Amino acid sequence: MAMAAKGDGPAIGIDLGTTYSCVGVWQDGRVEIIANEQGNRTTPSYVAFTNTGRLIGDAAKNQASMNPINTVFDAKRLIGRRFSDASVKSDMRLWPFEVRGVENKPMIVINYKNEEKEFTPEEISSMVLIKMRDIAEAYIGSTVKNVVVTVPAYFNDLQRQATKNAGVIAGMNVMRIINEPTAAAIAYGLDKKGTTVGGKNVLIFDLGGGTFDVSLLKIEEGVFEVKATAGDTHLGGEDFDNRMVNHFVQEFQRKHEKDISSSPKALRRLRTSCERAKRTLSSTAQTNIEIDSLFEGIDFYSTITKAKFEELNLDLFKKCMDPVNQCLKDAKMDKGIVDDVVLVGGSTRIPKVQKLLQDFFSGKELCKSINPDEAVAYGAAVQAAILSGQGNIDKVQDLILLDVTPFSLGTERFTGAMKVVIPRNSTIPTKKERASTTVQSGQTCINYKVYEGERPRARDNRLLGTFKLEGIESAPRGVPKLTICMEIDSNGIMVVSAEEKSTGNKSKLRLSNNSTGRLSEEEIEKMVKEAEKYKLEDEENKKKMEAKFAFADYAYNMKDRVSNLAQLDEKDKKKIVKAVNKAIRWLNENEDQLAECEEYENKRTRLENICNPIMARNV
Ligand code: ADP
Ligand code: MG
Repeated sequence: MAMAAKGDGPAIGIDLGTTYSCVGVWQDGRVEIIANEQGNRTTPSYVAFTNTGRLIGDAAKNQASMNPINTVFDAKRLIGRRFSDASVKSDMRLWPFEVRGVENKPMIVINYKNEEKEFTPEEISSMVLIKMRDIAEAYIGSTVKNVVVTVPAYFNDLQRQATKNAGVIAGMNVMRIINEPTAAAIAYGLDKKGTTVGGKNVLIFDLGGGTFDVSLLKIEEGVFEVKATAGDTHLGGEDFDNRMVNHFVQEFQRKHEKDISSSPKALRRLRTSCERAKRTLSSTAQTNIEIDSLFEGIDFYSTITKAKFEELNLDLFKKCMDPVNQCLKDAKMDKGIVDDVVLVGGSTRIPKVQKLLQDFFSGKELCKSINPDEAVAYGAAVQAAILSGQGNIDKVQDLILLDVTPFSLGTERFTGAMKVVIPRNSTIPTKKERASTTVQSGQTCINYKVYEGERPRARDNRLLGTFKLEGIESAPRGVPKLTICMEIDSNGIMVVSAEEKSTGNKSKLRLSNNSTGRLSEEEIEKMVKEAEKYKLEDEENKKKMEAKFAFADYAYNMKDRVSNLAQLDEKDKKKIVKAVNKAIRWLNENEDQLAECEEYENKRTRLENICNPIMARNV
């Protein structure tokens, strides 16, 4: 962390949003959210290149329809990502500007003053940061150097580092990168209010322009722990705008028998009007749309009611409750023990969204006294003031932020099942142990395979590495007491080890972010989505694995029992050993694929029919 130096002027907080950014400063004992030159308290995260120069913010967004290929937005969706990332590929299809991969880094290609130029996402973001700083400097009346910038809680280290670099490119001193939900909680002073015995559970519901993020924080004595995050990377205000746009395209078709969707310019103008109308409908029951010469010289005048707007979007609004459920589930929290629900993001100004959320929490009052699209910048400004040692803050405190593991980590059982050692969403640093043992008598070596992912069958997850524990004391199956230990330090470095405590025999596997090429956010998302898709298949596999286990367990047990039964006559013994060996051979031969449940059950029954009568006679 870089500390602020004296004489650097006040420190500011910037919420660098996907669609809108916001800046705040601590002044005269409170936070001031600073309006831009247009009088707007949030500024579009847009950068445009024209024949005359570069435009940032409202000016860039306003000319987007005339200059689509040189107007850049959504840089936050690219920052810290690789060109080959699935999300980059799919987002690119939605952008009018060009993105090109250079050494697997996504580069934004634009034409500036008749020359082709390539920009990194960091550079585009740095331009937005510069704009936000300029807005602050104009208000404060002095230069500003120190800044706190916010990022989504799920941002990985690369994305955070790249955001920090954007600040560096902008010539600023990024004192700290903090999580957006944490900033919102700070804005509400939720870290200070009331008793903190056992901590406070805070749910942050952030519905913005193009993204939806739900986070569960546990706040205890100034420590903000992200318990879980969930959301939708493509759900937000722009989708609500689009529904209204489609509604009016149809109305235009009915009224004038003309399809305006063939004209990007008409669509863009209609969309701008719709966004304005949507904002108005958050505080009134009805509003007008008036666009002169929208299409082929035809003026378009219409009205829309709040009820109609809600009807057009009800399914989307309702969809927002799913990630809330998911987040609570991942945090293993009942909604009844959520202490505070905080509204963040411009789209939570929509009364229907508030109503649905409030109903979900059985009528609980929502935290909404701070403008939701300003809450993140507000908290960032408080944090900036704390870090730069500006006075008037009752309790100067250093906030510690903790992260969670985005996926479960575990090893493969001998049945092929995933044995989870560190569950998904565990706070890091973390250290967990699980007991392990041999599956065969006299086994002296185990090959451990380490996986990450949510699927019940290990090999459907991502293999991180393998390691061997050798020299296990020879003993009957199940007797050696082995311990698998998984540890992730605060930098995300993982160490996996296995140990035989009685002998001190130990073996280790060390994994770091780089050596494994850890999953990116969308890969995780894909895996979770895939996990849902394959849920049925997984349930079947689970049954098969259980059946396999029951069969294998019986066979190995029988093998042990027979070798220890002195009174067994030679003929009976041979019969059992032959059947058991046949079973084990078959299990080994079919190690790599799962058979049907029935097959395992039939084989087990057949084996039992051979062994059980003999055993019954002899014990
Ligand atoms: P970001 O998602 O980039 O962080 P914001 O949180 O500022 O951005 O959210 C921007 C979205 O909020 C836009 O889609 C905007 O139209 C919407 N919005 C802003 N004010 C209102 C309002 N009064 N009613 C409904 N939606 C609003
Ligand atoms: Mg936001």
